[in-house]
Amino acid sequence: MGKQPHVLVIPYPAQGHVTPLLKLATKIAEQGIKVTFVNTEQIAAKVMATMPEESEGESLIKFVSISDGIQQEDDMKDFYKYTNILLRDMPGKLEYLIEKVNQSSDSEQISCIVADIFAGWAVETAWNMGIPRAAVVPYGPATLALSYHFSKLTLDSDGNAMNDGMISISEESLPWRRNELPWSFPLDQKMQKLLFEAMCTVEQIIKISNWVLSNSFYELDSTSCDLVPKLLPIGPLLALNNSRHLAGSFWPEDSTCLSWLDEQPLGSVIYVALGSTGTINQQQFDELALGLESSGQPFLWVVRSDLMIGSDAQFPGAFKEQIAGRGKMVEWAPQEKVLAHRSVACFVSHCGWNSTLEGLSMGVPFLCWPFFVDQIQNKNYVCEAWKIGFELTRDENGIVTRHEIETKVRKLLNDESIKGNALKLKEMAKRSLAEGGSSFENFERFMVQMKSS
Ligand code: UDP
Repeated sequence: MGKQPHVLVIPYPAQGHVTPLLKLATKIAEQGIKVTFVNTEQIAAKVMATMPEESEGESLIKFVSISDGIQQEDDMKDFYKYTNILLRDMPGKLEYLIEKVNQSSDSEQISCIVADIFAGWAVETAWNMGIPRAAVVPYGPATLALSYHFSKLTLDSDGNAMNDGMISISEESLPWRRNELPWSFPLDQKMQKLLFEAMCTVEQIIKISNWVLSNSFYELDSTSCDLVPKLLPIGPLLALNNSRHLAGSFWPEDSTCLSWLDEQPLGSVIYVALGSTGTINQQQFDELALGLESSGQPFLWVVRSDLMIGSDAQFPGAFKEQIAGRGKMVEWAPQEKVLAHRSVACFVSHCGWNSTLEGLSMGVPFLCWPFFVDQIQNKNYVCEAWKIGFELTRDENGIVTRHEIETKVRKLLNDESIKGNALKLKEMAKRSLAEGGSSFENFERFMVQMKSS
């Protein structure tokens, strides 16, 4: 009898990366394949604390952790410092882990490494060790296609576009505005350089990968998919589709919002969640609160403990009394379950790729509030290409005002065309995952090739 496959899955240590990689790990494990999921120690502690309890025999995935060399939690917030430490220390630590697993027993040998493309060092380690490897792309195909073809762009060494006007890598794909490139970080050049350098490695990582797995589906953006070699779109990756509903949250999910949603009228609730990293100041916080209040709709608002820049959230005046019974705030929501709930009318989202795909898969129209990186082009796809939402436009001071929120909520809830488009995309996503659909077939292809590699 041949050896059983054993897949090692490695995300970049951030919420928007651990989540899709864990969903993928679960999908692979559900095929009866042994899967080991590698977190850094800091992230493992967060994820394990929110994980549903499972008995030893029940657990589909084995979790292991390696030290990221970080002394203090605060260092993780300095993305620049953190990434450099990861780049320096992780390849050696990963190699050591793989050797240890391989030596422990013959049947345990790692046969494939499935690693986040943002943790390219893990793909390189696998390549150096001669282990078959898949790069997983947690951002959208358009961002991937641009990064893969970035040598066609005219950029300076910090990734700033030198040409005026729009940037296109194909006539059929949505063009990019020069100040909206996925590594654009106008207020932090150091950060921009780091993101740009990461994007510059994409072509090489794809070259040395056996498979490139995208959390998207072919029909959503076939033009971008066709621009990248080896690409297998296998998404949308959804926790709701796996038996354990594992999402790898860093904060405990507050499920009381689900029973609260049960009590709200059908298609009435505004769901507001700005992802795991976006922050706002007190003025913006007040405008958002008052916009939700004056919309007159019920709302569910995720107020992360670190949503505010440098302070705890202070709700304005009598806000809490005014919205009692009509509004609910939680620190972290079971997002997919919320989006799938029949009471939800729309999603005020920062347009991170996971949130975008989750909202789209549940047929929920968007009000887009992007901050940076790929979120801005994701917003353009939502509003211009797929026409399933509107943008919340900032005023001259960079604030989304209460008036803007109230007006756009009303406009969106009265727009039957947007709602119709959202439902069509939901169906399209569902079909791609069903037997015979494009994502279903691509995942099967990956499984067959991976088992025989
Ligand atoms: N999420 C969640 N509960 C919340 C807010 C977000 O489970 O209250 C999840 C969401 O479902 C998504 C992830 O956190 O899978 C955020 O990833 P995304 O790419 O949207 O944004 P990022 O946090 O990386 O900016």
